[in-house]
Amino acid sequence: QRLPEGDAAIRATDSDAALARLSAVHKGYLTDPYITPFVSRPHLQHPRPPLINIGTYVRSEALDELVDGWLALCEAEGTKCQIVSMGAGSDTRFWRLADVYIVDRSQLRQTGHRKDLLAKYIELDFAEITTKKAMAIRKHRELSAILGKPEDVSLANGGTTLHSPVYHLLAADLRKPPAESLAPLLASPTDPLLSPSLPTLLLFECVLVYMSPEASQNVLQWFTDYFTAGSGVLGCIIYEMFGLEDSFGRVMVNNLKARSVTLPGAKPYPNFDTLPNRFLQHGWEIARALTLKDIRREYINPRELERIAQLEMLDEIEELELVLAHYAITWGAKLPANSGQLKARW
Ligand code: SAM
Repeated sequence: QRLPEGDAAIRATDSDAALARLSAVHKGYLTDPYITPFVSRPHLQHPRPPLINIGTYVRSEALDELVDGWLALCEAEGTKCQIVSMGAGSDTRFWRLADVYIVDRSQLRQTGHRKDLLAKYIELDFAEITTKKAMAIRKHRELSAILGKPEDVSLANGGTTLHSPVYHLLAADLRKPPAESLAPLLASPTDPLLSPSLPTLLLFECVLVYMSPEASQNVLQWFTDYFTAGSGVLGCIIYEMFGLEDSFGRVMVNNLKARSVTLPGAKPYPNFDTLPNRFLQHGWEIARALTLKDIRREYINPRELERIAQLEMLDEIEELELVLAHYAITWGAKLPANSGQLKARW
């Protein structure tokens, strides 16, 4: 079956994201022992410019902080939780979290995280991407050993799907109606992969821009309904470009076009003030947003900023801020009536 035009270009953005992460790791911005196996020919890859490395660093630190905050709240409430990562690509977050929350060899273990905190970690992406990722996982022992005993890890659906006790890698096109794409995978009436009553965090890291606003809303509405029916707390973190209508935003869109990535044309594109509407329109109680520019200025520890400033020369701080001002992290939650703690702290 022929894919709609442009999908190959959209999928190629995953390699970009993985290469950006590898670059930030090689230059000393980030630590990630798991990214190399997901990059083809990692030794031949060139580093990214300082501006991209800093952006990758700020986004990664901010998302880690929010995910850690969510897990800490679940732990404090004495409940297990689930994470669903949409358009997960080559993301390594599951393995990084497993080091802390599942596998027994992290030093952090000694601070007493409960080992079963993470009940499910589910990743969704196009079948071509999940197949590639499943193959990388099977090939690299440092990745597969973390998933469980070999007999507990299985491939399915012609290699597009991987199941293990906690981690599941599933193929879906998120633009399709959720009743066709998400429900059969996650919400089987007899044995749902995703429990509708456990606190669940959705991650959309750099993926919504490739979907129409209607498709994004349908996905969020489907999760909202599923968790309302099951009384579970639902949280979400979105990382995305915004403000693409100003002159710099148009440069960013043209850069994507030059690589054959056509954006599905949200009109108007979200601006900073409308970002929380992604959640408010579904009746969620928490909806907050910050730009990467503000996160870098106000939330990254000054000692860390000093450390990364030593790594590479960056002449153009104005340009850095212009770029970072076009990326935002928006996070929110839908809460049952009695979850005051989450509301106050996340
Ligand atoms: N989230 C990862 C990260 O931040 O490192 C990957 C980001 S990459 C820029 C975008 C990912 O979203 C790609 O892996 C792409 O295949 C996936 N994606 C885009 N549109 C999608 C759709 N309609 N359904 C499933 N996955 C999609």
